[in-house]
Order: sequence, then C-alpha cells, then structure tokens
Amino acid sequence: MLKDEDRIFKNLYNDLGWDIESAIKRGDWEQTKNFISKGKDWIIKEIKDSELRGRGGAGFPTGLKLSFAPKNVGSRPHYLVINADESEPGTCKDRDILRFEPQKLIEGCLVSSYAISAHTCYIYIRGEYIREGQQLQKAINQAYEKNFLGKNACGSGWDLDIYIHYGAGAYICGEETALLESLEGKKGLPRLKPPFPALVGLYGCPTIVNNVETIAVIPSILKRGAKWFSSLGKPKNTGTKIFCISGNVNNPCNVEEEMGIPLKDLIEKHAGGVIGGWNNLQAVIPGGSSMPLLPKNICETITMDFDSLIKVKSGLGTAGIVVINNDQDIIKCMARIAKFYQHESCGQCTPCREGTGWMRRMLDRMVNGEATYKEVDLLHDVTKQIEGHTICAFGEGSAWPVQGLLRHFKKEIIKRCHEEPLIKKKSNIPYLIDQHLLEKDSA
Ligand code: SF4
Repeated sequence: MLKDEDRIFKNLYNDLGWDIESAIKRGDWEQTKNFISKGKDWIIKEIKDSELRGRGGAGFPTGLKLSFAPKNVGSRPHYLVINADESEPGTCKDRDILRFEPQKLIEGCLVSSYAISAHTCYIYIRGEYIREGQQLQKAINQAYEKNFLGKNACGSGWDLDIYIHYGAGAYICGEETALLESLEGKKGLPRLKPPFPALVGLYGCPTIVNNVETIAVIPSILKRGAKWFSSLGKPKNTGTKIFCISGNVNNPCNVEEEMGIPLKDLIEKHAGGVIGGWNNLQAVIPGGSSMPLLPKNICETITMDFDSLIKVKSGLGTAGIVVINNDQDIIKCMARIAKFYQHESCGQCTPCREGTGWMRRMLDRMVNGEATYKEVDLLHDVTKQIEGHTICAFGEGSAWPVQGLLRHFKKEIIKRCHEEPLIKKKSNIPYLIDQHLLEKDSA
C-alpha cells in the first residue's frame, strides 16, 4: 500500500479543501519560481529521469514528449494543451483532479509551458464536465489573483495565460489531433500523422498535448526529485497512479496507489471486494473500455502497470478498472461496448466506420443466440481488418475489447451459436449486408 507521505493527490476526496489557500498549505506553489530558475533542460531532465509515462492511456514517456518541442521559438508560437476530455468509459480520475486538486494542474501547466517555451496553455474539457470546468475556472482566477499566472507568473519572469475550452461530448476528441481540430473550431476529426503536433499542432504551431494527471504530478516530481518518483512502482513503470474502480464492486472509488499494485489488492482492499465475493468474479477490464478484458485466473496475480498488462495482451490504458461478476452476460457487456464504439467512430476510415457496425451487429446476434459458428471466426477477422488499418488508435480501441472476448470467452460464444442462421435471409445477398439494409429500412 502507498504510504501517506508518498501520496501526491492528498485532497482526492476533498476533505482538505480545494481552494488555493488550502492548496498552498499542502505545499503547492512552494518552489515554482525555483524550478523555473533552474532552466528548461533541468526540468525536462528531471522528468525524463523520473521515468514518468503519460497517464492518458498510451503511456508515452513524458520527458521525451516535452523534449520534442523545438528548442528555439521561431515565427510560430508554442502551445501547451491539456487533454481533459476524459471520455473513456470507466475513467473518472481527471475529474477529481480538476475539481479537488486544480492547483496541482495549474502549477504543472506553468512549469511545463516554460519547459516547452509556451506562453499560452489551453485546457480542453469535455462538455459534460461543466461543473468541473467552472470550479477549475475559479481556481485559475485565484491563481491570477495571487500573480501565479499572467505576466511574470509566480515571479519567475515567464508569462503564461491559461484558457479553458469545452468540448461538445464526442469521444474522439480525446484523440490529440481530433482535440486540436476541435479547439480550432472545426469538426473533431483525427489528422493523419506525420506531421506530429510537436512540430505542427494547434494552428499549425508546435504543440505538446498532455493528460491532466500527467501534468499535475510534475510539480511533485520536481519538488521531491526524480529519484523519489522512480523509487515507487517498478522500473519503467514508476510513480503513483490514480485508479478508478467501478462495476460489480461493493465500493466503487478512485484511489491513488503505487504503479504495479496487484489488481486483486485494488479490488479487495480499496473497492470493498467483488459483489458476491472474489469467487463470483468473471472478468475485469483493466484500463478503460478499449482495453481487452482479463478473465478471473489472470486477475488473481496480475499487477497494474503498463508492461505487465501488455504481457497478458491487455493494457493499463487510463487505469479505469471495470469489474464484471458472474451475474453479468459477458457477451452482452462487450456488445454494449461495441455499440458505443460504433456510435463514436468519426467515420473517416472505412475499416473503422464499417467494421464497428459489423462487430456490433454480430455481437448482438451472438447475445441473442442467432449467430452461426462461422461468424465467430468472421468476427475475429473483422477485428483484424480494423486493427492497424486506420488513421487513429480508435480502430484498435474498438477491436481490442472484442478480441479479448474471443480470446477468453470463445466457449461461451460458441455455446450460443448454431450451424445455420436462425433468421431467414430476406434475399440472396449475404446475411450481414442484408441485416444492415434491414436496419437502415427500419430507421
Ligand atoms: Fe475516425 Fe475511426 Fe478513423 Fe479514428 S479510426 S479517424 S475514429 S474512422
């Protein structure tokens, strides 16, 4: 268990006060001027040495990402953009940082903006987080009143302005280039890469996009040292992490713990255990809806860090843990997730636009016991046609949960399948297309 003195987000449950005075008492803004006086290279080196990896899902090394910003500012200004879109089902950690620990994020924005030579920072918040956005705006105003932001922010000699921008509720705007498009006032459609945002980002200018939690832990790393941070967790999977535990548990919660904590400990010690007891566990989605589920036997021993989860063909993602017990129809759960991805696909790439619909329709047929044995392999084939063939990682995010289901629960699916389709074909065109047209007709 994480020791109290190593906890970064001490006000995660808002029992110590979210306002700036309470935050200052907890140590925020204590040494900001000092960090900036040590220079950009020192800040980036500390973050690199801490081995901090992005907390938004991909786990990319943060120090390396910051170092991608051009060293000198040319004719184009640099920007820092904070991704607070947090739309991954099962994930609600950034929400608690925005409303209960906003000064950690704001201080992190100042230090990181300085490190990449940005004088403007945008925080892109999902539209549904209207209350969190209002609270964050109050916190930003408080920081301005204290001269922690604006001209000569915090007495550092660096100028920084922070603006909040609300999204309109599209999941795809969590993808960094779609987010930038949306921020520019356009439709949130992912861009083809390269060029990457570090060189051609917001308004065509060098831009670093980072998740809320990633930026909010940076001041603590600089204050306590890279060695302290990297002493927590495991090599290459260092530090602490906010885990969100939901689903069939007795006490759904957010909790900050060391990276590499056993999944079983998180569920049993922090979330009050599985409803119906540990033996009633069926599966766990370990990192938000786009990560493949893990069956109970793997959940017994798996530890929650990037590398351990990749070894079992899943991923830490956003660390949004969704617990599924034996009372649930696991195929129906995955069909529900597939429906979500079908709805949220931006439609630019054919494999994603069409494939998400194919997967959803086949899973629905499997739930209802209408599918044939052949469709099981066909479903796997569709996931493979999507994976790796799209503009953005949404394609993988939609295909992986289905692959996870097929990998671990194929027997359950086959039990419900038949040799021949149960529903008669309306014409001699292939069944799946037929069904698609039927749905279109009835829409
Ligand atoms: Fe849009 Fe899907 Fe292509 Fe991403 S993968 S760009 S969401 S169609």
